[in-house]
Amino acid sequence: MPKSFLSTLTGSFSTGAAENPTVAMVEAAYRHHGLDIRYINCEVPPDLLGDAVRGARAMGWVGFNCSLPHKVTVIEHLDGLGESAEIMGAVNCAVRRGDQLIGENTDGKGFLKSLMEKIDPRGKSVVMFGAGGAARAIGVELALAGATRIVVVNRGVERGQTLVDLLNTRTEATAEFAAWSGPYAIPDGTDIVVNATSIGLYPDVDGRLDIDLDTLKPGMVVADVIVNPPKTNILRDAEARGCTVVDGLGMLINQGVIGIKYWTGVDADPTVMRDTLTEIFGASD
Ligand code: NDP
Repeated sequence: MPKSFLSTLTGSFSTGAAENPTVAMVEAAYRHHGLDIRYINCEVPPDLLGDAVRGARAMGWVGFNCSLPHKVTVIEHLDGLGESAEIMGAVNCAVRRGDQLIGENTDGKGFLKSLMEKIDPRGKSVVMFGAGGAARAIGVELALAGATRIVVVNRGVERGQTLVDLLNTRTEATAEFAAWSGPYAIPDGTDIVVNATSIGLYPDVDGRLDIDLDTLKPGMVVADVIVNPPKTNILRDAEARGCTVVDGLGMLINQGVIGIKYWTGVDADPTVMRDTLTEIFGASD
């Protein structure tokens, strides 16, 4: 068989693309598995997103990630949505299936895969801080995975209540809103605590969730979405109190694993991706 000089194409469309490390992580996995596939990180302004998607179709891309600010607006340029992306109303990964581009959301799925290494959320009680895009994705996936109770703790009441309403109407989980106005006491019986806010994200590295630390109990699993730095104050505080912790790198890495599986069918080795991110962001210990 003659050598092919035509690589398979994947990539990402976002504004602020220069700050997105996914390309380094995904290309490290492609190289590791000897795949002749490229991942092209593209700076795409909001008014040209439709052109970018049409370009990807014309060039036969097998799929692409899309990050801020395109996660909602990309939907009008796609042919259909996966189950959780439809509930969330947000897409961060498009996948070519036949001649269609289908929108999936790997944010929450990446989080769930990372969490499952420590605990299965089925039948569990969750406290989740935050009600933005990451929280919405995580809340929906936790609910679809069988979490029975999800308390959404958020500073802004309207955003928190909107997420609670979505979970109660579109999933089997029972969700409730807790206003965040002073140190929050994590209720007894909580199994999983999630920081889905941006507190702790560089340069806010000294940021700390306003919680009553004595209510973090051994046996709880405490997970963070923050990638940079991977070891946040909440994870340090939780570890010091005997909780099991899950960092935000796992969520990002598993988004890569899931995206590569969608696009290529290959089960990518997460180790090579973690090594690449650890090199970029520093060790998590
Ligand atoms: P949004 O802007 O949509 O939401 C931010 C959330 O954080 C809101 O609930 C907001 O509350 C809350 N928040 C921010 N600052 C504070 C504060 N000082 N005190 C209390 N609450 C605060 O962001 P996203 O949901 O898109 O992203 C959240 C984080 O998740 C980011 O740091 C992002 O980097 C990370 N992320 C990580 C991923 C990964 O793969 N590891 C993937 C996606 C996101 P309010 O509504 O009151 O403003």
